[in-house]
Amino acid sequence: MSDESKLATGEVLSITRWGDQLFSFTLTRPAGYKFEAGQFARIGLKSDQIPGIYHEDFNPEGQEQIFRAYSIVSSIYDETLEFFSVTVPEGSFTSRLSHLKVGDEVLIDKTPFGFLTLSRYQQPEPQDLWLIATGTGAAPFISMLQGFEVWSHYRRVVFIYGARYQDDLVYFDQLESLAEPFWDQWDGEFIKVASVTREIPAMDDICTNQRITELLGDDDLLDQIGFKPSSTSHVMLCGNPQMIKDVKQVLKDQGLSMNRRGVGNIAVENYW
Ligand SMILES: Cc1cc2nc3c(=O)[nH]c(=O)nc-3n(C[C@H](O)[C@H](O)[C@H](O)COP(=O)(O)OP(=O)(O)OC[C@H]3O[C@@H](n4cnc5c(N)ncnc54)[C@H](O)[C@@H]3O)c2cc1C
Repeated sequence: MSDESKLATGEVLSITRWGDQLFSFTLTRPAGYKFEAGQFARIGLKSDQIPGIYHEDFNPEGQEQIFRAYSIVSSIYDETLEFFSVTVPEGSFTSRLSHLKVGDEVLIDKTPFGFLTLSRYQQPEPQDLWLIATGTGAAPFISMLQGFEVWSHYRRVVFIYGARYQDDLVYFDQLESLAEPFWDQWDGEFIKVASVTREIPAMDDICTNQRITELLGDDDLLDQIGFKPSSTSHVMLCGNPQMIKDVKQVLKDQGLSMNRRGVGNIAVENYW
């Protein structure tokens, strides 16, 4: 059972459904809840709100609350907390979370967690930033792109977003408008790349039908981007563990290293 003093409550303010399996929702931000862009919250549902939460398949110990990690989509300046979720069929948490209604309450651990943050990089110095995500793994990067840290430190920012279908690339089209308020003094390059595996994408941005692993080895595509990940790049990977494992290997083969104790290129967050 969770220690109640560590928990706050957020009221559901809005829900946006992006098709059958994806949705975003905003919660009131608990007073004093501070986080760094890229971090995640532990959010929870209470048994009395959610019928069936005592079902022994997923809750054999009869816990009164069930929690999951959720990356924060909102910027650090927002008054609300936004999250981007998949609905996992039969998923213990998301099959219930997907039934949230405006006005419902969600538990929030008062401590933010995680190290997929730009402040972890001490060396190399910031030059190129590669943000690489599949599915809901885009969440921490959307938060980062709405902050000064990215746009004051990096000359070039590449966002690579992978999904099965083009419509699943939620937030992709909004990124410029979300980031634009921070571009006043910035004269660098922002490059978006869509990797859509189950259909041929048709987009104005750079897009490919290849998996992210393949596109990082494709010279034509890298030519369109204009440069490659290198030993001076910061590369962040988030989402599907298989994508992360494969891309990590590709990058290591190209001479990049894991970021440890602040030094190195690659930082990752596996969602399962
Ligand atoms: C640090 C961290 C941050 C996370 N942030 C998010 C987030 O911002 N949004 C989000 O939707 N999930 C996020 N997750 C995953 C989330 O914590 C849950 O696993 C997810 O909500 C499913 O919960 P569940 O109980 O329904 O299913 P679970 O029993 O937890 O998972 C069942 C299976 O569903 C699949 N799965 C789980 N999460 C995802 C996903 N996000 N996309 C596709 N398939 C998935 C996996 O195959 C997993 O084995 C994060 C996980 C971690 C560790």
